Amino acid sequence: MTVAGDERKNHPSNTTAKWVLSQVTLVHPMRDQSLDFLKSLVNTPSPSGYEERVAQVYREYTSSYAHQVNTDFHGNTWAVLNPDAEMKIMLAGHMDEIGFIIHYISDDGFLHFSPVGGHDPTIPLGQRVWVHGKERVAGVIGRKPIHLLEPGERDKKPELHEYWIDIGATKREEVEELIELGDPVTFQVEFQHLLGDRAVARGFDNRVGSFIVAEALRLLAEEGGLDGGVGVYAVATVQEEIGLRGARTSAFSIDPQSGIAVDVNFAIDHPGLSKARYGQLDIGKGPSVGRGANINPIVYRMIKEAAAQNEIPIQISPEPGGTGTDANAMQVSRSGMATGLLGVPLRYMHTPCELLSLTDVEQCAKLMAGYCRLVKPDTDFTPRVF
Ligand SMILES: [Zn+2]
Repeated sequence: MTVAGDERKNHPSNTTAKWVLSQVTLVHPMRDQSLDFLKSLVNTPSPSGYEERVAQVYREYTSSYAHQVNTDFHGNTWAVLNPDAEMKIMLAGHMDEIGFIIHYISDDGFLHFSPVGGHDPTIPLGQRVWVHGKERVAGVIGRKPIHLLEPGERDKKPELHEYWIDIGATKREEVEELIELGDPVTFQVEFQHLLGDRAVARGFDNRVGSFIVAEALRLLAEEGGLDGGVGVYAVATVQEEIGLRGARTSAFSIDPQSGIAVDVNFAIDHPGLSKARYGQLDIGKGPSVGRGANINPIVYRMIKEAAAQNEIPIQISPEPGGTGTDANAMQVSRSGMATGLLGVPLRYMHTPCELLSLTDVEQCAKLMAGYCRLVKPDTDFTPRVF
């Protein structure tokens, strides 16, 4: 489907920027409702530990086609098909994003913060943020200007504790009317189309994974092909960015035989990265499929089979050990889960402008659904020689 400049149509600078419009054709492969769902997932703030709002978006969307939707005490949200089946597949896409948390408010009204998840300390300076207090409060991240840095400071990488948030307040009491300690903070950036099928957003890592598991479940519900004896649990997990914590609790309670995690994966297709060192992974050439110790070899074979059957291009992503994804926690849950890992190639990970291809996202959901259709009640996931 081709959509002409939807964001730009209503832009006030439209009249002076017609030359931009005439050259840009936005392409996306998704149904409009699906794209709207993806946009509302990424535009909803969800730093680790504060996922309630995005969980609500997830529940509302999936409850129109899932047989059961449930949120556990940890905050993980599951949408299920065939909840009574004994053979169970868990699909996991974490719905938390990196962010900040307020830990101190100074007498003169500045807010000091700690990171939630792994931040590049060169990123925050000059960014606009939302502080999610009693209401959403706008602020900016400040530091002393380059002119006033001491000799030697200019060459040094900044540290996160050197920054503060300025909401325009003049004293602590003014801040405390709106914000309390422990309130989370996110960058203001939201979803935007780029050329072709490319898009950027804050925290595609990994609301795009939650989107994919929800879409895979929808495809199974609406297009069929899932064995009635196989249950599928599409889980939007919590707290991945701070140690794969939600995957651990949800894998334990679902207790599935097999599972697939989906997360973003490093695109090795831009300046500054060596393919000889990191391997090749290109945006727009299909989802990545993990292979290595974190991946059950039978699951890997079945994912490849599903890709071939559905003519979905894939890129192999060798993983020498446990990955930094939910697949790691899932594989070692209880007595071991037959686990697979899919990835969406992504540039600029953990910055406010994470970039990906919407076609890759769509293909990844189809691949996940294709895998689920291949699982039968008697599928044997024991690694063995063929
Ligand atoms: Zn991440």
